Amino acid sequence: MHLTKAEIITLGRTLDVDYAMTTSCYDPSSDGAACGHCDACQLRLRGFEQAGMHDPVRYR
Ligand SMILES: [Zn+2]
Repeated sequence: MHLTKAEIITLGRTLDVDYAMTTSCYDPSSDGAACGHCDACQLRLRGFEQAGMHDPVRYR
């Protein structure tokens, strides 16, 4: 795996991945919103930022 997170997200977008359906949060709230603070959320947010994209997943 040699892709950066941003590259993975950009690649997924070209493959029409629906990122609103994906979350890797370690500590989601009871309604499914991601915490925005755990390692998985931080990596995800940084990846979207680097890709210049808005993350469609809800954060609490
Ligand atoms: Zn999280």
